Amino acid sequence: MDRTIFSEDHDLFRKSFRTFLEREVVPNQMRWIEAGIVDREVWRKAGAAGFLCPWLETEHEGAGGDFLHSCVVVEELGRVYESGLALSLHSDIIVPYIHAFGSDEQKRRWLPGCASGDLVTALAMTEPGTGSDVAAIATTARRDGDHYVINGAKTFISNGILCDLCIVAAKTEDGAENRHRALSLIVVEADRPGFIKSKKLKKLGQLAQDTAELTFEDCRVPVANRLGEEGAGFFMLMNKLQRERLVVAMIAQAQAEQVVKDTIAYTKERKAFGKPISKFQNTQFKLVECATKVEVGRAFLDRLITEHLAGKDLIKECSMAKIWQTEMASEVVDECLQLFGGYGYMLEYPVARAFMDARVQRIYAGTNEIMKTIIAKQLDL
Ligand SMILES: Cc1cc2nc3c(=O)[nH]c(=O)nc-3n(C[C@H](O)[C@H](O)[C@H](O)COP(=O)(O)OP(=O)(O)OC[C@H]3O[C@@H](n4cnc5c(N)ncnc54)[C@H](O)[C@@H]3O)c2cc1C
Repeated sequence: MDRTIFSEDHDLFRKSFRTFLEREVVPNQMRWIEAGIVDREVWRKAGAAGFLCPWLETEHEGAGGDFLHSCVVVEELGRVYESGLALSLHSDIIVPYIHAFGSDEQKRRWLPGCASGDLVTALAMTEPGTGSDVAAIATTARRDGDHYVINGAKTFISNGILCDLCIVAAKTEDGAENRHRALSLIVVEADRPGFIKSKKLKKLGQLAQDTAELTFEDCRVPVANRLGEEGAGFFMLMNKLQRERLVVAMIAQAQAEQVVKDTIAYTKERKAFGKPISKFQNTQFKLVECATKVEVGRAFLDRLITEHLAGKDLIKECSMAKIWQTEMASEVVDECLQLFGGYGYMLEYPVARAFMDARVQRIYAGTNEIMKTIIAKQLDL
């Protein structure tokens, strides 16, 4: 089906981002996978070309676009199977916290750098002792005059090594009275003493992404770095997680679409028993099933993107998309990998990387089980 959500301007933006990826990303992918991290410089190049926070207003030195420009970035990264360069995590999940909850002074201080690529961001919620249960965070931020003193450990933090700014969820109260009012969000600059990037983690997929453990040891941060009110951290996180789930659904959808396209092309080329494997009925049925799932998923997602742009409250629908799109992508990528035979298991074949990358989407941004608890509440169960 033809897509109707994009304008001519988005199409031009897509063309230029595609060129950027072919020039600055694709030739480096295998090297980044080996290194377990992307080049710091590619962030600045992406910023200089207007591909970071494309929705950010020009008054903050952004490109003045909208969320659909971000959708283009997600789709095109999916097209080239790039999962290490976490542009959408930065642009569409983390920077929006500063944009939505930052004071004017904080926005002036940080947003231009977020758009230029001088400031790469991370968001540190998860800890060794807690992930799904956000209100159980144990990291503390003790007030000492006009500073907070942060102590604690975070794990699984995307962009953990490259980040220049990290939004840290920490307890500013003990939470004995109300654990949901104990958390605050504090922006910590990476060069502050006591902020330690402890370890880059080895993972099953997203091999070029610098997911890391972070430690805070008596890390002093000015109170002026807190986003929003003290104790409002949990509510700010809940407010923005809807967008995060939508973005993860978009990534999964883009990945599944590209894998189906590439598998169709591969099965027409690859021969067995004297004919292209696309001529076997099993291949056709599998690809038809995958193509149908992708097409149905796209219709739902484009509708959701449109309603999100219109400012609708979509907690239930975004959680549904997070489940449906990520499970669909896992199934589709698995079926397609099978059609590549042994080549599908080789890292140099993008479908192998898609297989590894797809798995985590059912885990992060709130596990799919947590999504079900949210939807159950929305259904008044
Ligand atoms: C590659 C990667 C990148 C990540 N990036 C970030 C990041 O940038 N920042 C960040 O803060 N975190 C990040 N995370 C952490 C991620 O969000 C958490 O791993 C996730 O929320 C799950 O938390 P957990 O690992 O502690 O699992 P747990 O919360 O311990 O869950 C374990 C199992 O129990 C289930 N479970 C838990 N509670 C319930 C319930 N109420 N009902 C039913 N089942 C339940 C879960 O669904 C899961 O299956 C990342 C994780 C990975 C793997």
